[in-house]
Amino acid sequence: MRRVYAALFAAYGQQHWWPADSPFEVMVGAVLTQNTAWINVERALARLTESIALDPAEILALDPAVLAEVLRPVGYFNVKTRRLSVFCAYYLAAGGFAGLDARDTETLRRDLLAVQGIGPETADDMLLYAFERPIFVVDAYTRRLFARLGLIAGDEGYEQIRRALETALGPDVPLFKEYHALIVRHAKQACRTRPACPDCLLRENCPTAPVPSMTSSLVVSG
Ligand code: SF4
Repeated sequence: MRRVYAALFAAYGQQHWWPADSPFEVMVGAVLTQNTAWINVERALARLTESIALDPAEILALDPAVLAEVLRPVGYFNVKTRRLSVFCAYYLAAGGFAGLDARDTETLRRDLLAVQGIGPETADDMLLYAFERPIFVVDAYTRRLFARLGLIAGDEGYEQIRRALETALGPDVPLFKEYHALIVRHAKQACRTRPACPDCLLRENCPTAPVPSMTSSLVVSG
């Protein structure tokens, strides 16, 4: 796990995740980024902050139809309007960032998962990037890359993979933040649905990478 991290970091450098100015912005982004590209979240956040401050009370004060229209770039905007509103109401009732941050990690994770529309990946984005808790985010990219590298089977449950990664790496918030960002970068650049193995920096240690055939080496050397 650490060798993979070192190779990815050496190749791509620091990714500066999560791109946000406040913990609350991280949480809003985590809700909005479900099933959509980050660029669409950026568009929606820019539209939102054109008219109001990024503040839970101000978001709740918006007419839901107006909020849905503002969130249109993220797709499923009616669902996400409901989810964001539910989350903002929960956030305020819980005492805002300070109220949530006072909880131990296990309690906070359980409480976030109990909020309608917050699944494990969204909760863990919040825990790691907003609350700086040592929780490894397991997304589809993580599962695909580590399965192809032979580090996991790939069909394990979310919790099993998360705990295995956290145990292997030890609790390290800066490492977890950077590692997740690097996985996303590598999964988009090389380890895509159809992987670009010949150009991949991990190919020599990847059991999924095709072995260069004798014929092609002869052609290359000849
Ligand atoms: S060699 Fe191919 S399958 Fe392995 S990590 Fe790289 S792109 Fe993914």
